[in-house]
Amino acid sequence: MRVLLATRNAGKVDELRQILAEAAPHVELVGLDAVDDYPETPETELTFAGNALLKARDGVKHTGLPTIADDSGLAVDALNGMPGVLSARWAGSAKDDAANNALLLDQLADVADELRGAKFVCAAAIVWPDGRELVVHGEMPGRVIREPKGANGFGYDPLFVPEGYELTSAELSAAEKNAISHRGKAFRELASGI
Ligand code: IMP
Repeated sequence: MRVLLATRNAGKVDELRQILAEAAPHVELVGLDAVDDYPETPETELTFAGNALLKARDGVKHTGLPTIADDSGLAVDALNGMPGVLSARWAGSAKDDAANNALLLDQLADVADELRGAKFVCAAAIVWPDGRELVVHGEMPGRVIREPKGANGFGYDPLFVPEGYELTSAELSAAEKNAISHRGKAFRELASGI
């Protein structure tokens, strides 16, 4: 069975492919680069689930394939859960990771160490051509530190130390991060139901 993951991020396709190889070996996963181009709807919803569903429904509509999509971001306690769905464009529409990290550090400059809790959140949706829909969530709790550390990962990884760790998620290997990450958890739950 061919399933689309509605993303151009090859890392996400690889990660889900590895999970599916164990959980659902009958699935052949393809990314957006493997199907004909279609106009992608902007992520305009105010929830991770809403955006994941929007992208998954789009995929089914344009390809006829069962489609999985995810949306994720960082929810910071001291910012009442922001940047949330605005994580990618927190410092502006340029989606600049370094600028986003610099802005976050500035905003949290006066927040004490014990109040710097945060979590990464991921919603993953699957939509089937017959209209069935399922959304699951995964979370990775942790805290925001005061200066970037590590070169792996992307986004806010250099500022985020997962609960129970001393290293940032940018200092973990991809396999170590996937084992505990919001996206890994959501993808594993979704894969178990395919
Ligand atoms: P998307 O779900 O790939 O669109 O991610 C949205 C944004 O959330 C990214 O641009 C990052 O800023 C942030 N984000 C989501 N997941 C992660 C992660 O695993 N590490 C670091 N940043 C992340």
